Amino acid sequence: TNIPLERIDDNRWLIPQRYNDAMRVPGMVYADDELIQTILSDNALQQVANVASLPGIVGHSLGMPDIHWGYGFPVGGVAATDAETGVVSPGGIGFDINCGVRLLATDLHYDQVKGKVAELADRLFDNLPSGVGTDGMRQLTEQEMHDVMVQGARWAVDEGYGFAEDIDMTEEQGCLEGADPSAVSKHAIQRGRKQLGSLGSGNHFCEIQMVDHIYNQEAADAMGIGRKGQIVATLHCGSRGMGHQVAEDYIKLAEAKQEDFGFHLVDRQLACLPLDSEEGQAYLGAMKCAANFAWANRQLLMHGVRQSFASVFGRKARPKDLPLVYDVCHNIAKMEEYEIDGEMKRVCVHRKGATRAFPAGHPALPEKYQAIGQPVLIPGDMGRYSFMLVGAPGSMEQSFGSCCHGAGRRMSRTAAKKAVGSKQLLEMLEKKGVTVRVHSKNLLAEEAPQAYKDAQQVVNVVHNAGLASLVVRLRPLIVVKG
Ligand code: 5GP
Ligand code: MN
Ligand code: MN
Repeated sequence: TNIPLERIDDNRWLIPQRYNDAMRVPGMVYADDELIQTILSDNALQQVANVASLPGIVGHSLGMPDIHWGYGFPVGGVAATDAETGVVSPGGIGFDINCGVRLLATDLHYDQVKGKVAELADRLFDNLPSGVGTDGMRQLTEQEMHDVMVQGARWAVDEGYGFAEDIDMTEEQGCLEGADPSAVSKHAIQRGRKQLGSLGSGNHFCEIQMVDHIYNQEAADAMGIGRKGQIVATLHCGSRGMGHQVAEDYIKLAEAKQEDFGFHLVDRQLACLPLDSEEGQAYLGAMKCAANFAWANRQLLMHGVRQSFASVFGRKARPKDLPLVYDVCHNIAKMEEYEIDGEMKRVCVHRKGATRAFPAGHPALPEKYQAIGQPVLIPGDMGRYSFMLVGAPGSMEQSFGSCCHGAGRRMSRTAAKKAVGSKQLLEMLEKKGVTVRVHSKNLLAEEAPQAYKDAQQVVNVVHNAGLASLVVRLRPLIVVKG
């Protein structure tokens, strides 16, 4: 691409506003010299520039180091729009509304687990429904579905899937206020009723990992993951078919309304709705339902993980032995306040493949993390490593309290499938000591480590740029996928 980039420093690149007439703000991309080359090889930076043309956008249109091409907005993109004059763009949240990650600590050391890896893998595979279009652990009545959409993780805890302590360790306490079930289509509700408590397929997973390197002992101790060799469990999944249907419904609506609102956007996939319109508010009300569904979903799945550990290791499925460290979402829009050009402004922060990264002292954080900052969970890939960071003050100044959400793709799914055979991939993982349980071996190749950037390089950039700060590195032992 011919996008002009101005180097700001070792980790930041500016896309000047003069690149085209449509841009209302400049773009800012976080990457080192090597990552920027990978990023330049797909159209993601054009998408950063496109997003900069959204009505009411403020600050910069941001690209994180894990950025890659997505629907309208890049994955790894952050954009904030003025609460009064701005818009919400459903493509800027993504199809898997409140896709997110949660991490559960255990009191087990690798030495206690190594003889039982296969058994634990089997138990997890049995207890966590996965695969394309699978039914979940719970079938919901219409009333229950309504309650899930309004109450989120709390509903799951009240039904016996987990404990009150879990709620505090979940972003937004696992529930966005203002969820509006009447804004959710019948079809989305039908899809959700069957799928609560399911992992889905492809990129979603449950991974058992061990603490492999500690960068910040104090923060690691505060999170209860400060012992080298300690076993933890990560879940990555979202709102399943329900959230997907909400996204589809509102993208269609937004597209149909662009003329009425007088929007002539550079890419139809950016279709958006004014925040102060009925349609914009309906989307936010429906998005919150899907977000709450996703939190309930991860809460049910975590219960399945606890039960698996309980049965294999004679633990009790309770927070004392198996505490939730934190749960973050990485596909969401939130109304938040930031200082912009010396003035406090209320904005709608779109995080699409981006994680909230609030620093120490932020009022949204639980007591436990006030002194260290919000835990930031960054999955890498199934062969190398994943990371835990904490939010840093720079995120408030630069990126609307956000940082990256993963390593980010460097190959499309199709390219990955061509590059790596599933048999060869399974052998490679076995050699590395990673035990795999997967429904569709074909889909596994799409998620091969080679398909992703090097997560270490990605997290180094956000660390060095001051958006978040490294705490521990995790090594995969078991991967369960759909
Ligand atoms: P996304 O939400 O964009 O689908 O995925 C988030 C991130 O998860 C990806 O950018 C990638 O770095 C990471 N990821 C994908 N599959 C796996 C996996 O099997 N294990 C781990 N640890 N990370 C993964
Ligand atoms: Mn997802
Ligand atoms: Mn995700």
